[in-house]
Amino acid sequence: MELTDKFGRRISYLRLAVTDRCNLRCQYCMPAQGINIVDKKELLTYKEMYRLTRVLSELGVNKVRLTGGEPFVRKDFVKFLESLSYNDKLDEINITTNGALISNHIDKLEELKINSINLSIDSLQREKFAQITRRDVFVNVYDTFEKLDKSNLNLKLNVVIQSGFNTDEIIDFIEFTKDKNIVVRFIEEMPFNGKGQRQIDEEWNYSKIIDHIKNHYQEIETLQSKKSSTSKNFKIPNYKGSFGIIPAFTRTICNDCNRIRITATGMFKNCLFDGGVFNVRDFIREGASDDDLKALFIKTVHKKPENGFVAEKNRGNDVSESMSTIGG
Ligand code: SAM
Ligand code: SF4
Repeated sequence: MELTDKFGRRISYLRLAVTDRCNLRCQYCMPAQGINIVDKKELLTYKEMYRLTRVLSELGVNKVRLTGGEPFVRKDFVKFLESLSYNDKLDEINITTNGALISNHIDKLEELKINSINLSIDSLQREKFAQITRRDVFVNVYDTFEKLDKSNLNLKLNVVIQSGFNTDEIIDFIEFTKDKNIVVRFIEEMPFNGKGQRQIDEEWNYSKIIDHIKNHYQEIETLQSKKSSTSKNFKIPNYKGSFGIIPAFTRTICNDCNRIRITATGMFKNCLFDGGVFNVRDFIREGASDDDLKALFIKTVHKKPENGFVAEKNRGNDVSESMSTIGG
């Protein structure tokens, strides 16, 4: 039994948000006062998350990304990672984090063979970083960066490109890949900011970012990426690391999508841009068996929309929730 949609795309990748809480208040993700967090009992428990992951892994999901909110804000997150790591059907467990709380956990993450850490860092300048995240934690995040860089974990930096904030640092980030074996990924900003006031200036989309880089360097190598990769990947010749651009908003990557999402409250999403298809938490709490869950997953994935534009149109209301509730 496999998860395949009607366009023949096989689903093998789950993005699971372990919490809607966060210690930062990034401008593009939520308003300054934060979002209305849900009551704790509405969050999936670790046991429920473990079970959902196991059932999905029996349907061919072999890669999980843990995200949020900030995963490390949730108590016992590292213990949960440990239990997930016993699932031998999973080839990869990855984490997306803002890095402010994790520097003490890095040895453990290495021990658990976490495959890759995506560290969100939108500026290399302390003041600007504080302006974007509304918290003065650059020093902690940079410390995490240095420790991760020295560790044997694969490291990717996530940089959301925001007009007027960090476009002048694109080249600085690429220069970072000169001596470091890291991947820097520039992400197009999306309107998932929990009804914050930011207007998306679409000017800095994929094309503008790559043109900006091409204007700076004489030569750029295009790298072969996995079919389902979310980013188009490049490298400056002789640089140790590489960089990618994620066309998250212009959505040119949907054809090869292999992803599904489960939010912290158990909402199953076939696409980042859909409004949530059904609540697996309620289904579990009503007594669903593993076979019931499998049947529902198979049926629902079959209805995965062709691309993010179709998903957005189908939902019929604005995509204005916070990325921290969706699980970015
Ligand atoms: N708190 C963790 C972090 O920041 O890495 C994990 C959750 S966060 C929602 C996951 C990723 O989504 C981060 O790299 C963040 O920069 C990105 N993100 C959040 N809001 C976004 C938006 N409106 N547009 C594009 N990317 C966004
Ligand atoms: Fe928190 Fe991540 Fe959203 Fe920033 S992007 S507010 S760190 S969830």
